[in-house]
Amino acid sequence: MTDVVIIGGGIVGLATALQLKQQRPGLKVVLIEKESAVARHQTGHNSGVIHSGLYYKPGSLKAINCIRGYQMLIDFCNAENIPYDLCGKIVVATKQEELPQLETLYERGQLNGLGGLKKLTLPEMREIEPHVKGVAGMFVPQTGIVDYKQVSDKYAEKFRALGGEIRLNERVEQITPGTSLSIVVTNRDRYETKLVVNCAGLYSDKIAQLTQRDPVNVRIVPFRGEYFKIRAEKQYLVKNLIYPVPDPNFPFLGVHFTRMVHGGVEAGPNAVLAFQREGYTKSDINLKELFETLAWPGFQKVAAKYWQTGLGEMYRSFSKSAFTKALQELIPEVQESDLEEGGAGVRAQACDRTGGLLDDFAILETDKAINVVNAPSPAATSSLAIGQTVSQKVLARF
Ligand SMILES: Cc1cc2nc3c(=O)[nH]c(=O)nc-3n(C[C@H](O)[C@H](O)[C@H](O)COP(=O)(O)OP(=O)(O)OC[C@H]3O[C@@H](n4cnc5c(N)ncnc54)[C@H](O)[C@@H]3O)c2cc1C
Repeated sequence: MTDVVIIGGGIVGLATALQLKQQRPGLKVVLIEKESAVARHQTGHNSGVIHSGLYYKPGSLKAINCIRGYQMLIDFCNAENIPYDLCGKIVVATKQEELPQLETLYERGQLNGLGGLKKLTLPEMREIEPHVKGVAGMFVPQTGIVDYKQVSDKYAEKFRALGGEIRLNERVEQITPGTSLSIVVTNRDRYETKLVVNCAGLYSDKIAQLTQRDPVNVRIVPFRGEYFKIRAEKQYLVKNLIYPVPDPNFPFLGVHFTRMVHGGVEAGPNAVLAFQREGYTKSDINLKELFETLAWPGFQKVAAKYWQTGLGEMYRSFSKSAFTKALQELIPEVQESDLEEGGAGVRAQACDRTGGLLDDFAILETDKAINVVNAPSPAATSSLAIGQTVSQKVLARF
């Protein structure tokens, strides 16, 4: 019998597992992951940016956890000798119409406690990023880069060292909530546990549904983000991180340039509907999963509202020249021939029945389970803070 079964070996599940063992070493905690290693999905396919907390509504879980998690992550990397670089980033308004939104971001950043934000003219931007184009910008000194796979591996190592158990290659298939104990059944084993913690990312809605009879009123809609890599000879075009002003109606940040902590520069990610939850390429299609997405009333409302943005993203996904054009808004010198095929990640974006794309982190609790049903960006930055929040909820029950 175990005290807690955590489902999902991404950065959120691992951070929760580690925090639990650190706070209550005597607790028996088992983490179950369906892949042969941790961090194989969102955590291992992201931009590697340590977000500052600039974008998020003051007081939201994202703002609170990003700012707290940022410091916890830096402290962790320092303690464990994990390389990171707080290189700062610039946010660039490429059109006059984006200036009010840039101003809103500046105010939000200040309300979220970010010191040192600096408004920039074009010449000032060019002192930081000599090849950038835009009408105005902002420097965010706190932003940094790190390898979240490396961070996750360290969470896993420390969790194990504290006596935690990680069961790889086990897919949770069934959960039977009981009065005192729940039964968690995987393709290989069966666990009796006092509490289930669901950190299953792209399948968190499915796992949440297994923990309760009432219908779960959110669905994960998978949005693939595709990247290009900048050819080595052209990497001089980008010194650090260059972001556009994001569309306030859309939960993604827009294609940007990111220097990676181990070297190289990536451009992306876009945001296209994935036809499979773990669909990393255009040809990955799972008809059952696709049908479930299309049939979800909330998704139909999202599609009706954002079809133009969606089509634009789809077009850029199939047309390298259209993708290049979007990047040229920020750096006109970038040419199609400078872009090499990069990887892709799939974002788990929760969507409610009414067509709301959940903006904030979301944790749903039942008698026998704690379900993290929305942990999109900046959840990697915020992982230790989310892990702390979830572990406090767990410990309140023991
Ligand atoms: C393209 C992209 C770029 C991003 N950029 C950034 C960034 O720069 N900075 C930032 O802070 N955040 C970023 N994010 C967000 C961040 O990566 C995620 O918020 C974070 O990784 C979520 O972690 P997770 O543990 O919830 O999910 P995941 O990493 O997806 O982990 C969930 C785990 O659950 C497992 N699982 C699912 N179902 C089962 C089952 N039935 N049984 C057992 N195991 C199961 C999966 O195999 C998986 O390993 C980005 C995300 C994407 C996709």
